[in-house]
Amino acid sequence: MDESRIGWIHQAVDDTTDAFRKISDEIWDLAELRFKELNSSKLLADSLKDCGFEVKWPVPYLETAFVASYGSGKPAVGLLAEFDALSGMSQTAGALHQEARKGSENGHGCGHHLLGTAVVQAAVTIKKYLEETGKEGTIIVFGCPAEEGGSGKTYMAREGVFDDVDVALTWHPGTHNAMFSSETLANIQASFKFKGVSAHAAAAPHLGRSALDAVELMNIGVNYLREHMPSDARVHYAVTDTGGNSPNVVQAHAEVLYLIRAPKMADVESLYERVVDIAKGASLMSGTEVSVRFDKACSNYMPNKTLGRLVSKQMLTIGAPVFAESDYEMARQYRETFSQGEIANDLREAKSLIGKGDVLFRKEYEQKVLSDVVIPLDEQDRLLSGSTDVGDVSWKVPTAQFFSACAAIGTPMHTWQMVSQGKLPVAHRGSVSAAKFLTATAIELFENPKWVDEAWEEHAEQLEGQDYRCPIPSGVYPQK
Ligand SMILES: [Zn+2]
Repeated sequence: MDESRIGWIHQAVDDTTDAFRKISDEIWDLAELRFKELNSSKLLADSLKDCGFEVKWPVPYLETAFVASYGSGKPAVGLLAEFDALSGMSQTAGALHQEARKGSENGHGCGHHLLGTAVVQAAVTIKKYLEETGKEGTIIVFGCPAEEGGSGKTYMAREGVFDDVDVALTWHPGTHNAMFSSETLANIQASFKFKGVSAHAAAAPHLGRSALDAVELMNIGVNYLREHMPSDARVHYAVTDTGGNSPNVVQAHAEVLYLIRAPKMADVESLYERVVDIAKGASLMSGTEVSVRFDKACSNYMPNKTLGRLVSKQMLTIGAPVFAESDYEMARQYRETFSQGEIANDLREAKSLIGKGDVLFRKEYEQKVLSDVVIPLDEQDRLLSGSTDVGDVSWKVPTAQFFSACAAIGTPMHTWQMVSQGKLPVAHRGSVSAAKFLTATAIELFENPKWVDEAWEEHAEQLEGQDYRCPIPSGVYPQK
């Protein structure tokens, strides 16, 4: 990319930054939860519509999912936008201690207010590029609800929403500027509801059948399963109904929610079947009935390395966010609130992203409180012990995502510190950089569509002849 185009990208994105900062702050204020992000998604969809994008709401039961497109012909570059918040994460903006925000119980602990906004800011800039150059190509923004435990993109994939796009790009707010080049775990979430018989726990215990006992027996059974799972598998549970607060009553109802993860969906499905068997065993032992409700699932994420190389090159060309002295000071103050373990954890992540290559770079990086450099791409295979519904998109089309630094190094995701920093200049600068990285990558794809062909060659190899099969069965719909 020539110097004048790089300068054009900086200028074009900077020109719209004030307007998008407002939108991002508004979405932070709204802090809407999964599948209920009506106002947040509308804010983004409307700003695209006002800019001349054609906006559709393609999935009837996903009222907050939208598709906005501009341009015509190939390549069709897709950008994935998220905008949902986390429950129970209410926090006052900019406070250096944990303090709930009046008027909301929720908060943007994962920075999705920045994620969606930067994607839209990039799309608007890419449209400007297409208009000015008259190039062929389409830019499509996918408004994706419920990344947090809802698998919005998996439902969208099931409905064929991503079928007409050639590549997908996205990013995630974080503490470093680097490619997200790890695979992630596939998962299935399901709830197990036990029905027993209530009775006076002292006067007539022989007449009671305890649903809470069934939950306990199921959890014990699953804990014995753990030794006999693939080593990267994970099983988590939350008791969502204990059957009441009275120990002198035999609990007639109880429920437990399970989240099962493994690197491959086939392993998740086989573990899920074993967990279902354990639930049946628990119901048999306790004389209760069990009903299983499949809640959601998502596929493992397969980063496309070809696209990863392209995005990483643009990140290095555009450069990291430039922070002010006041940003560094703020980052140092937040750092005081992190535990040593949290800082060590984030630095371990940075080390993994940097790889074994550059020792000097790594040593210098460890001293930083803000990520003001782009970490060069390291292509070693990695597995991140988490899940994302971007996984399902990555099965349908070549996909790349990256991190952009929007918070102090050491900030753990899903914490009050992440929510607190969500409206600070650091967050906005990281978001603006993300918009520039996305814009530059899309422009490269429009200028050199051979990248798309190469990405698809790699994609075909990754699939090893398998077709994408949506892990959420038909007939299952989101639980709001
Ligand atoms: Zn997130």
